[in-house]
Amino acid sequence: FQEHIVKSTPARYNSTQACLENDISGTDNKGFKGHDMLAPFTAGWQSTDVDPLIIEKSEGSHVYDMQGRKYIDTLAGLWCTALGGNEPRLVDAATKQLNTLPFYHSFWNRTTKPSLDLAKELLDMFTAKKMAKAFFTNSGSEANDTQVKLVWYYNNALGRPNKKKFIARAKAYHGSTLISASLTGLPALHQNFDLPAPFVLHTDCPHYWRYHLPGETEEEFSTRLAKNLEDLILKEGPETIAAFIAEPVMGAGGVIPPPATYFDKIQAVVKKYDILFIADEVVCAFGRLGTMFGSDMYNIKPDLVTLAKALSSAYMPIGAVLVSPEVSDVIHSQSNKLGSFSHGFTYSGHPVACAVALEAIKIYKERNMVERVNRISPKFQEGLKAFSDSPIIGEIRGLGLILATEFANNKSPNDPFPPEWGVGAYFGAQCQKNGMLVRVAGDAIMMSPPFVVTPEELDELISIYGKALRETEKRVE
Ligand code: PLP
Repeated sequence: FQEHIVKSTPARYNSTQACLENDISGTDNKGFKGHDMLAPFTAGWQSTDVDPLIIEKSEGSHVYDMQGRKYIDTLAGLWCTALGGNEPRLVDAATKQLNTLPFYHSFWNRTTKPSLDLAKELLDMFTAKKMAKAFFTNSGSEANDTQVKLVWYYNNALGRPNKKKFIARAKAYHGSTLISASLTGLPALHQNFDLPAPFVLHTDCPHYWRYHLPGETEEEFSTRLAKNLEDLILKEGPETIAAFIAEPVMGAGGVIPPPATYFDKIQAVVKKYDILFIADEVVCAFGRLGTMFGSDMYNIKPDLVTLAKALSSAYMPIGAVLVSPEVSDVIHSQSNKLGSFSHGFTYSGHPVACAVALEAIKIYKERNMVERVNRISPKFQEGLKAFSDSPIIGEIRGLGLILATEFANNKSPNDPFPPEWGVGAYFGAQCQKNGMLVRVAGDAIMMSPPFVVTPEELDELISIYGKALRETEKRVE
Protein backbone atom coordinates (compact mmCIF):
# COMPACT_ATOMS: atom_id res chain seq x y z
CA PHE A 1 0.00 0.00 0.00
CA GLN A 2 2.75 2.42 0.97
CA GLU A 3 4.57 1.75 -2.31
CA HIS A 4 1.44 2.62 -4.20
CA ILE A 5 0.95 5.95 -2.59
CA VAL A 6 4.43 7.34 -3.17
CA LYS A 7 3.55 7.44 -6.86
CA SER A 8 0.94 10.11 -6.27
CA THR A 9 0.89 13.22 -4.21
CA PRO A 10 -1.20 13.00 -1.04
CA ALA A 11 -3.76 15.45 -2.36
CA ARG A 12 -4.19 13.48 -5.53
CA TYR A 13 -4.47 10.24 -3.68
CA ASN A 14 -7.11 11.63 -1.45
CA SER A 15 -9.68 11.82 -4.21
CA THR A 16 -11.95 9.12 -5.53
CA GLN A 17 -11.49 10.19 -9.14
CA ALA A 18 -7.72 10.27 -8.71
CA CYS A 19 -7.76 6.80 -7.17
CA LEU A 20 -9.62 5.54 -10.19
CA GLU A 21 -7.27 7.27 -12.60
CA ASN A 22 -4.01 6.46 -10.89
CA ASP A 23 -4.73 3.16 -9.47
CA ILE A 24 -7.56 1.25 -10.95
CA SER A 25 -7.43 2.47 -14.56
CA GLY A 26 -10.37 2.22 -16.93
CA THR A 27 -11.66 5.66 -15.94
CA ASP A 28 -14.88 6.98 -17.28
CA ASN A 29 -15.67 9.66 -19.81
CA LYS A 30 -12.26 10.41 -21.33
CA GLY A 31 -11.63 13.69 -23.05
CA PHE A 32 -12.98 16.29 -20.65
CA LYS A 33 -9.78 17.12 -18.80
CA GLY A 34 -9.14 20.83 -18.56
CA HIS A 35 -12.80 21.71 -18.95
CA ASP A 36 -14.14 25.24 -18.62
CA MET A 37 -15.95 25.01 -15.33
CA LEU A 38 -14.61 26.41 -12.11
CA ALA A 39 -16.12 23.37 -10.46
CA PRO A 40 -17.59 23.53 -6.94
CA PHE A 41 -15.68 21.67 -4.23
CA THR A 42 -13.10 20.48 -6.76
CA ALA A 43 -9.34 21.05 -6.74
CA GLY A 44 -7.74 22.78 -9.71
CA TRP A 45 -5.57 19.78 -10.54
CA GLN A 46 -8.64 17.55 -10.63
CA SER A 47 -10.26 19.56 -13.39
CA THR A 48 -7.04 19.72 -15.39
CA ASP A 49 -5.61 16.23 -14.81
CA VAL A 50 -8.52 13.91 -14.22
CA ASP A 51 -11.50 13.29 -16.43
CA PRO A 52 -14.69 14.12 -14.56
CA LEU A 53 -17.43 11.61 -14.07
CA ILE A 54 -20.17 12.95 -16.31
CA ILE A 55 -23.67 11.87 -15.38
CA GLU A 56 -26.15 11.87 -18.21
CA LYS A 57 -29.34 10.18 -17.09
CA SER A 58 -31.15 9.11 -13.95
CA GLU A 59 -33.73 6.46 -13.19
CA GLY A 60 -35.07 5.62 -9.73
CA SER A 61 -32.09 5.29 -7.39
CA HIS A 62 -29.63 4.94 -10.27
CA VAL A 63 -27.69 7.32 -12.47
CA TYR A 64 -25.88 6.60 -15.74
CA ASP A 65 -22.67 8.11 -17.02
CA MET A 66 -21.89 9.11 -20.60
CA GLN A 67 -20.79 5.60 -21.43
CA GLY A 68 -24.00 4.11 -20.14
CA ARG A 69 -22.47 2.75 -16.92
CA LYS A 70 -25.06 2.41 -14.20
CA TYR A 71 -24.43 3.48 -10.61
CA ILE A 72 -26.60 3.27 -7.54
CA ASP A 73 -26.62 6.87 -6.33
CA THR A 74 -26.40 6.41 -2.56
CA LEU A 75 -26.28 10.15 -1.79
CA ALA A 76 -29.46 10.94 -3.79
CA GLY A 77 -27.48 13.54 -5.77
CA LEU A 78 -26.44 15.78 -2.88
CA TRP A 79 -28.87 14.43 -0.23
CA CYS A 80 -31.75 15.74 -2.29
CA THR A 81 -33.39 13.62 -5.01
CA ALA A 82 -35.73 12.04 -2.48
CA LEU A 83 -38.15 10.78 -5.14
CA GLY A 84 -35.38 9.33 -7.30
CA GLY A 85 -34.30 10.19 -10.79
CA ASN A 86 -37.39 10.01 -12.98
CA GLU A 87 -40.60 10.90 -11.18
CA PRO A 88 -42.97 11.80 -14.04
CA ARG A 89 -45.39 13.72 -11.82
CA LEU A 90 -42.68 16.25 -10.97
CA VAL A 91 -41.84 16.65 -14.63
CA ASP A 92 -45.54 17.13 -15.42
CA ALA A 93 -45.95 19.68 -12.63
CA ALA A 94 -43.00 21.68 -13.99
CA THR A 95 -44.19 21.41 -17.59
CA LYS A 96 -47.73 22.46 -16.74
CA GLN A 97 -46.49 25.49 -14.84
CA LEU A 98 -43.97 26.39 -17.56
CA ASN A 99 -46.80 26.30 -20.08
CA THR A 100 -49.07 28.50 -17.96
CA LEU A 101 -46.81 30.96 -16.20
CA PRO A 102 -43.07 30.25 -16.40
CA PHE A 103 -42.27 33.22 -14.21
CA TYR A 104 -43.69 35.94 -12.15
CA HIS A 105 -42.10 37.45 -9.06
CA SER A 106 -43.34 37.96 -5.50
CA PHE A 107 -42.20 41.55 -4.83
CA TRP A 108 -44.49 44.45 -3.83
CA ASN A 109 -47.44 42.24 -2.91
CA ARG A 110 -47.63 40.77 -6.39
CA THR A 111 -47.19 37.03 -6.44
CA THR A 112 -48.31 33.70 -7.90
CA LYS A 113 -50.69 30.97 -6.77
CA PRO A 114 -48.08 28.18 -6.47
CA SER A 115 -45.97 30.26 -4.07
CA LEU A 116 -49.00 31.08 -1.89
CA ASP A 117 -50.11 27.45 -1.91
CA LEU A 118 -46.64 26.20 -1.02
CA ALA A 119 -46.31 28.65 1.86
CA LYS A 120 -49.65 27.47 3.26
CA GLU A 121 -48.72 23.82 2.79
CA LEU A 122 -45.39 24.19 4.62
CA LEU A 123 -46.95 26.05 7.53
CA ASP A 124 -49.62 23.34 7.86
CA MET A 125 -47.07 20.54 7.66
CA PHE A 126 -44.58 21.81 10.19
CA THR A 127 -46.19 20.92 13.50
CA ALA A 128 -43.23 20.75 15.92
CA LYS A 129 -43.96 24.39 16.63
CA LYS A 130 -46.47 26.70 15.04
CA MET A 131 -44.96 28.70 12.19
CA ALA A 132 -46.59 31.79 10.76
CA LYS A 133 -44.78 32.74 7.55
CA ALA A 134 -42.69 31.17 4.80
CA PHE A 135 -40.01 33.04 2.83
CA PHE A 136 -38.68 31.45 -0.37
CA THR A 137 -35.12 31.31 -1.67
CA ASN A 138 -33.30 29.37 -4.38
CA SER A 139 -31.05 27.35 -2.09
CA GLY A 140 -30.24 26.32 1.44
CA SER A 141 -27.36 28.79 1.58
CA GLU A 142 -29.60 31.72 0.66
CA ALA A 143 -32.14 30.52 3.20
CA ASN A 144 -29.52 30.53 5.97
CA ASP A 145 -28.25 33.96 4.92
CA THR A 146 -31.87 35.08 5.12
CA GLN A 147 -32.10 33.65 8.65
CA VAL A 148 -29.26 35.90 9.77
CA LYS A 149 -30.85 38.97 8.20
CA LEU A 150 -34.24 38.16 9.73
CA VAL A 151 -32.72 37.73 13.18
CA TRP A 152 -30.80 41.00 12.92
CA TYR A 153 -33.88 42.86 11.64
CA TYR A 154 -35.87 41.34 14.54
CA ASN A 155 -33.38 42.40 17.20
CA ASN A 156 -33.01 45.87 15.70
CA ALA A 157 -36.79 46.20 15.81
CA LEU A 158 -36.77 45.16 19.46
CA GLY A 159 -34.13 47.77 20.26
CA ARG A 160 -31.41 45.21 20.95
CA PRO A 161 -28.72 46.33 18.49
CA ASN A 162 -26.00 44.39 20.31
CA LYS A 163 -27.78 41.04 20.19
CA LYS A 164 -26.30 39.99 16.85
CA LYS A 165 -23.91 37.05 17.31
CA PHE A 166 -24.67 33.57 16.06
CA ILE A 167 -23.57 30.29 17.56
CA ALA A 168 -23.18 27.34 15.22
CA ARG A 169 -21.32 24.09 15.81
CA ALA A 170 -17.97 22.70 14.71
CA LYS A 171 -18.49 20.41 11.67
CA ALA A 172 -21.91 21.90 10.89
CA TYR A 173 -22.76 22.50 7.25
CA HIS A 174 -25.06 25.43 6.57
CA GLY A 175 -23.99 26.43 3.06
CA SER A 176 -21.27 28.25 1.17
CA THR A 177 -22.36 31.86 0.65
CA LEU A 178 -20.53 34.42 2.80
CA ILE A 179 -22.75 34.16 5.84
CA SER A 180 -23.86 30.55 5.54
CA ALA A 181 -20.21 29.50 5.05
CA SER A 182 -19.41 31.42 8.23
CA LEU A 183 -22.06 29.40 10.06
CA THR A 184 -20.61 26.22 8.57
CA GLY A 185 -18.09 24.73 10.98
CA LEU A 186 -15.72 23.15 8.46
CA PRO A 187 -12.28 24.78 8.14
CA ALA A 188 -12.11 24.13 4.38
CA LEU A 189 -14.98 26.58 3.83
CA HIS A 190 -13.19 29.30 5.79
CA GLN A 191 -9.56 28.98 4.74
CA ASN A 192 -8.47 31.73 2.38
CA PHE A 193 -11.98 33.09 2.14
CA ASP A 194 -11.39 35.37 5.18
CA LEU A 195 -14.15 33.55 7.06
CA PRO A 196 -15.86 33.01 9.39
CA ALA A 197 -17.32 36.47 9.82
CA PRO A 198 -16.55 37.82 13.28
CA PHE A 199 -20.13 37.59 14.55
CA VAL A 200 -20.15 33.81 14.23
CA LEU A 201 -18.97 31.59 17.07
CA HIS A 202 -18.69 27.82 17.00
CA THR A 203 -19.42 25.49 19.87
CA ASP A 204 -18.78 21.75 20.24
CA CYS A 205 -19.54 19.18 17.63
CA PRO A 206 -21.89 16.67 19.32
CA HIS A 207 -20.06 13.57 18.10
CA TYR A 208 -20.08 11.17 21.03
CA TRP A 209 -17.77 8.52 19.57
CA ARG A 210 -15.08 11.04 18.73
CA TYR A 211 -15.24 13.45 21.63
CA HIS A 212 -16.57 11.73 24.74
CA LEU A 213 -14.29 11.46 27.74
CA PRO A 214 -13.34 8.03 29.09
CA GLY A 215 -16.28 6.58 31.00
CA GLU A 216 -18.63 9.44 30.01
CA THR A 217 -22.17 8.34 29.05
CA GLU A 218 -24.05 9.93 26.16
CA GLU A 219 -26.23 11.82 28.63
CA GLU A 220 -23.19 13.09 30.52
CA PHE A 221 -21.57 14.09 27.24
CA SER A 222 -24.71 16.09 26.34
CA THR A 223 -24.68 17.75 29.75
CA ARG A 224 -21.05 18.76 29.27
CA LEU A 225 -21.75 20.19 25.80
CA ALA A 226 -24.74 22.16 27.09
CA LYS A 227 -22.54 23.51 29.89
CA ASN A 228 -19.86 24.50 27.37
CA LEU A 229 -22.51 26.30 25.33
CA GLU A 230 -23.71 28.14 28.41
CA ASP A 231 -20.13 29.08 29.34
CA LEU A 232 -19.60 30.47 25.85
CA ILE A 233 -22.81 32.51 26.06
CA LEU A 234 -21.83 33.89 29.48
CA LYS A 235 -18.29 34.68 28.31
CA GLU A 236 -19.58 36.62 25.29
CA GLY A 237 -22.49 38.16 27.20
CA PRO A 238 -26.02 36.80 26.61
CA GLU A 239 -27.10 40.25 25.45
CA THR A 240 -24.81 39.81 22.42
CA ILE A 241 -26.02 36.35 21.31
CA ALA A 242 -28.91 36.41 18.86
CA ALA A 243 -29.36 32.84 17.65
CA PHE A 244 -28.17 29.27 17.74
CA ILE A 245 -28.32 27.18 14.55
CA ALA A 246 -28.20 23.40 14.29
CA GLU A 247 -28.99 20.57 11.92
CA PRO A 248 -31.07 17.93 13.77
CA VAL A 249 -28.63 15.33 12.40
CA MET A 250 -25.44 16.85 11.07
CA GLY A 251 -25.15 15.94 7.39
CA ALA A 252 -22.13 16.94 5.35
CA GLY A 253 -19.96 17.23 8.49
CA GLY A 254 -20.11 13.44 8.75
CA VAL A 255 -23.70 12.31 9.49
CA ILE A 256 -23.66 12.89 13.22
CA PRO A 257 -26.89 12.10 15.07
CA PRO A 258 -27.16 13.94 18.39
CA PRO A 259 -26.28 12.05 21.58
CA ALA A 260 -29.13 11.18 23.96
CA THR A 261 -30.76 14.22 25.64
CA TYR A 262 -28.60 16.65 23.63
CA PHE A 263 -31.35 18.82 22.14
CA ASP A 264 -33.34 18.93 25.40
CA LYS A 265 -30.33 20.32 27.22
CA ILE A 266 -29.20 22.67 24.46
CA GLN A 267 -32.71 24.09 24.03
CA ALA A 268 -32.97 24.77 27.76
CA VAL A 269 -29.77 26.85 27.64
CA VAL A 270 -30.78 28.74 24.50
CA LYS A 271 -34.20 29.55 25.94
CA LYS A 272 -32.73 30.71 29.25
CA TYR A 273 -30.80 33.49 27.50
CA ASP A 274 -33.53 34.54 25.04
CA ILE A 275 -31.61 33.21 22.07
CA LEU A 276 -33.51 32.12 18.95
CA PHE A 277 -33.21 28.51 17.80
CA ILE A 278 -32.84 27.89 14.07
CA ALA A 279 -33.37 24.31 12.89
CA ASP A 280 -31.50 23.75 9.64
CA GLU A 281 -33.68 20.98 8.22
CA VAL A 282 -32.19 21.12 4.71
CA VAL A 283 -31.11 17.44 4.86
CA CYS A 284 -33.41 16.06 7.57
CA ALA A 285 -36.84 17.28 6.41
CA PHE A 286 -39.60 15.40 4.58
CA GLY A 287 -38.89 11.93 5.98
CA ARG A 288 -35.17 11.24 5.81
CA LEU A 289 -34.94 10.37 9.53
CA GLY A 290 -38.24 8.50 9.64
CA THR A 291 -40.21 11.55 10.81
CA MET A 292 -41.57 14.32 8.60
CA PHE A 293 -39.04 16.76 10.07
CA GLY A 294 -35.89 16.33 12.13
CA SER A 295 -37.48 18.61 14.73
CA ASP A 296 -40.18 15.94 15.25
CA MET A 297 -37.54 13.31 15.90
CA TYR A 298 -35.72 15.28 18.61
CA ASN A 299 -38.55 17.37 20.06
CA ILE A 300 -36.99 20.58 18.76
CA LYS A 301 -39.19 23.69 19.05
CA PRO A 302 -37.46 26.08 16.70
CA ASP A 303 -38.17 29.76 16.14
CA LEU A 304 -36.98 29.54 12.55
CA VAL A 305 -36.60 26.62 10.14
CA THR A 306 -34.47 26.23 7.00
CA LEU A 307 -35.65 23.95 4.18
CA ALA A 308 -34.30 23.07 0.72
CA LYS A 309 -33.21 19.90 -1.14
CA ALA A 310 -36.08 17.36 -0.76
CA LEU A 311 -38.52 20.28 -0.71
CA SER A 312 -38.65 19.85 -4.50
CA SER A 313 -36.84 16.50 -4.57
CA ALA A 314 -34.18 18.69 -6.24
CA TYR A 315 -36.06 18.83 -9.57
CA MET A 316 -36.05 22.60 -9.27
CA PRO A 317 -33.82 24.77 -7.05
CA ILE A 318 -35.78 26.07 -4.09
CA GLY A 319 -35.23 26.76 -0.40
CA ALA A 320 -37.48 28.16 2.31
CA VAL A 321 -37.39 29.80 5.71
CA LEU A 322 -40.26 29.25 8.13
CA VAL A 323 -40.76 31.97 10.71
CA SER A 324 -42.58 31.67 14.03
CA PRO A 325 -45.44 34.08 14.81
CA GLU A 326 -43.36 35.73 17.57
CA VAL A 327 -40.59 36.63 15.12
CA SER A 328 -42.79 37.39 12.13
CA ASP A 329 -45.03 39.75 14.12
CA VAL A 330 -42.01 41.87 14.98
CA ILE A 331 -40.78 41.80 11.39
CA HIS A 332 -44.26 42.76 10.19
CA SER A 333 -44.46 45.85 12.39
CA GLN A 334 -40.90 46.86 11.62
CA SER A 335 -41.53 46.69 7.88
CA ASN A 336 -44.57 48.93 8.42
CA LYS A 337 -42.35 51.46 10.15
CA LEU A 338 -39.64 51.29 7.49
CA GLY A 339 -42.03 51.15 4.57
CA SER A 340 -40.93 47.73 3.31
CA PHE A 341 -39.34 44.43 4.23
CA SER A 342 -36.48 45.05 1.83
CA HIS A 343 -35.13 41.57 1.30
CA GLY A 344 -35.81 39.11 -1.51
CA PHE A 345 -34.55 37.46 -4.66
CA THR A 346 -35.81 37.72 -8.22
CA TYR A 347 -36.64 34.03 -7.97
CA SER A 348 -38.10 34.02 -4.41
CA GLY A 349 -41.19 31.85 -4.81
CA HIS A 350 -40.44 30.97 -8.45
CA PRO A 351 -43.74 29.51 -9.66
CA VAL A 352 -42.19 26.50 -11.42
CA ALA A 353 -40.07 25.59 -8.39
CA CYS A 354 -43.10 26.05 -6.10
CA ALA A 355 -45.33 23.94 -8.36
CA VAL A 356 -42.75 21.14 -8.31
CA ALA A 357 -42.34 21.41 -4.54
CA LEU A 358 -46.13 21.24 -4.06
CA GLU A 359 -46.25 18.09 -6.16
CA ALA A 360 -43.29 16.54 -4.31
CA ILE A 361 -45.04 17.15 -0.99
CA LYS A 362 -48.27 15.70 -2.38
CA ILE A 363 -46.36 12.57 -3.34
CA TYR A 364 -44.65 12.32 0.07
CA LYS A 365 -48.08 12.39 1.68
CA GLU A 366 -49.93 10.14 -0.78
CA ARG A 367 -47.25 7.48 -0.70
CA ASN A 368 -46.80 7.70 3.09
CA MET A 369 -43.13 8.37 2.59
CA VAL A 370 -42.37 8.67 6.30
CA GLU A 371 -43.87 5.26 6.91
CA ARG A 372 -42.00 3.90 3.89
CA VAL A 373 -38.68 5.19 5.22
CA ASN A 374 -39.44 3.54 8.56
CA ARG A 375 -40.27 0.28 6.83
CA ILE A 376 -37.21 0.19 4.63
CA SER A 377 -34.54 1.81 6.78
CA PRO A 378 -33.87 -1.15 9.14
CA LYS A 379 -32.59 -3.11 6.14
CA PHE A 380 -30.31 -0.20 5.21
CA GLN A 381 -29.09 0.48 8.74
CA GLU A 382 -28.72 -3.11 9.92
CA GLY A 383 -27.35 -4.34 6.58
CA LEU A 384 -24.51 -1.83 6.72
CA LYS A 385 -23.95 -1.79 10.49
CA ALA A 386 -23.28 -5.55 10.18
CA PHE A 387 -19.90 -4.50 8.75
CA SER A 388 -18.97 -2.65 11.96
CA ASP A 389 -16.62 -5.46 12.99
CA SER A 390 -14.25 -4.70 10.13
CA PRO A 391 -10.81 -3.91 11.57
CA ILE A 392 -10.60 -0.73 9.46
CA ILE A 393 -13.98 0.68 10.49
CA GLY A 394 -14.13 2.94 13.53
CA GLU A 395 -17.83 3.71 13.53
CA ILE A 396 -20.94 3.24 11.41
CA ARG A 397 -23.63 5.67 12.48
CA GLY A 398 -27.00 6.86 11.25
CA LEU A 399 -30.75 6.47 11.37
CA GLY A 400 -33.55 6.36 8.85
CA LEU A 401 -32.07 6.73 5.38
CA ILE A 402 -28.85 8.49 6.35
CA LEU A 403 -25.63 6.83 7.39
CA ALA A 404 -21.87 7.32 7.58
CA THR A 405 -18.95 4.97 7.88
CA GLU A 406 -15.78 6.26 9.41
CA PHE A 407 -12.55 4.39 8.77
CA ALA A 408 -10.02 4.35 11.61
CA ASN A 409 -7.05 2.38 12.78
CA ASN A 410 -7.61 0.12 15.77
CA LYS A 411 -11.27 1.20 15.78
CA SER A 412 -10.22 4.33 17.62
CA PRO A 413 -11.22 7.95 16.89
CA ASN A 414 -7.78 8.90 18.13
CA ASP A 415 -5.94 6.73 15.64
CA PRO A 416 -6.86 7.89 12.12
CA PHE A 417 -5.14 6.44 9.08
CA PRO A 418 -2.51 8.77 7.59
CA PRO A 419 -4.44 11.09 5.23
CA GLU A 420 -2.02 10.31 2.40
CA TRP A 421 -3.20 6.71 2.46
CA GLY A 422 -6.52 7.97 1.12
CA VAL A 423 -8.42 5.07 2.69
CA GLY A 424 -11.82 6.72 2.23
CA ALA A 425 -11.02 7.71 -1.33
CA TYR A 426 -9.88 4.18 -2.12
CA PHE A 427 -13.12 2.76 -0.73
CA GLY A 428 -15.07 5.33 -2.77
CA ALA A 429 -13.17 4.33 -5.90
CA GLN A 430 -13.92 0.65 -5.28
CA CYS A 431 -17.61 1.50 -4.90
CA GLN A 432 -17.55 3.45 -8.15
CA LYS A 433 -15.77 0.66 -9.97
CA ASN A 434 -18.51 -1.70 -8.83
CA GLY A 435 -21.38 0.61 -9.82
CA MET A 436 -22.06 2.72 -6.76
CA LEU A 437 -21.47 6.40 -5.92
CA VAL A 438 -20.87 7.43 -2.31
CA ARG A 439 -19.89 10.73 -0.70
CA VAL A 440 -16.26 10.62 0.41
CA ALA A 441 -14.96 13.21 2.90
CA GLY A 442 -11.53 12.20 4.12
CA ASP A 443 -12.06 8.82 5.78
CA ALA A 444 -15.79 9.33 6.27
CA ILE A 445 -18.19 7.83 3.73
CA MET A 446 -21.73 9.13 3.65
CA MET A 447 -24.96 7.86 2.19
CA SER A 448 -28.54 9.13 2.03
CA PRO A 449 -30.36 7.15 -0.65
CA PRO A 450 -33.63 8.35 -2.21
CA PHE A 451 -36.73 7.66 -0.11
CA VAL A 452 -37.94 5.48 -3.01
CA VAL A 453 -34.96 3.09 -2.80
CA THR A 454 -36.26 -0.48 -3.16
CA PRO A 455 -35.31 -3.53 -1.05
CA GLU A 456 -33.55 -4.97 -4.12
CA GLU A 457 -31.56 -1.76 -4.56
CA LEU A 458 -30.60 -1.90 -0.91
CA ASP A 459 -29.37 -5.49 -1.42
CA GLU A 460 -27.25 -4.19 -4.30
CA LEU A 461 -25.97 -1.28 -2.19
CA ILE A 462 -25.02 -3.54 0.73
CA SER A 463 -23.35 -6.07 -1.53
CA ILE A 464 -21.21 -3.44 -3.32
CA TYR A 465 -20.32 -1.88 0.04
CA GLY A 466 -19.13 -5.32 1.23
CA LYS A 467 -17.02 -5.82 -1.90
CA ALA A 468 -15.46 -2.37 -1.64
CA LEU A 469 -14.76 -2.92 2.05
CA ARG A 470 -12.96 -6.23 1.42
CA GLU A 471 -10.80 -4.58 -1.27
CA THR A 472 -10.02 -1.67 1.06
CA GLU A 473 -9.16 -4.01 3.94
CA LYS A 474 -6.71 -5.84 1.66
CA ARG A 475 -4.98 -2.59 0.76
CA VAL A 476 -4.68 -1.34 4.32
CA GLU A 477 -3.44 -4.63 5.80
N1 PLP B 1 -27.87 23.42 5.16
C1 PLP B 1 -27.59 22.12 5.14
C2 PLP B 1 -27.86 21.30 6.36
C3 PLP B 1 -27.03 21.53 4.01
O1 PLP B 1 -26.72 20.24 4.00
C4 PLP B 1 -26.80 22.33 2.88
C5 PLP B 1 -26.22 21.76 1.66
O2 PLP B 1 -25.73 20.65 1.64
C6 PLP B 1 -27.11 23.69 2.95
C7 PLP B 1 -27.65 24.21 4.11
C8 PLP B 1 -26.84 24.60 1.80
O3 PLP B 1 -27.72 24.34 0.78
P1 PLP B 1 -27.37 24.79 -0.74
O4 PLP B 1 -26.24 23.93 -1.19
O5 PLP B 1 -28.68 24.51 -1.44
O6 PLP B 1 -27.03 26.22 -0.72
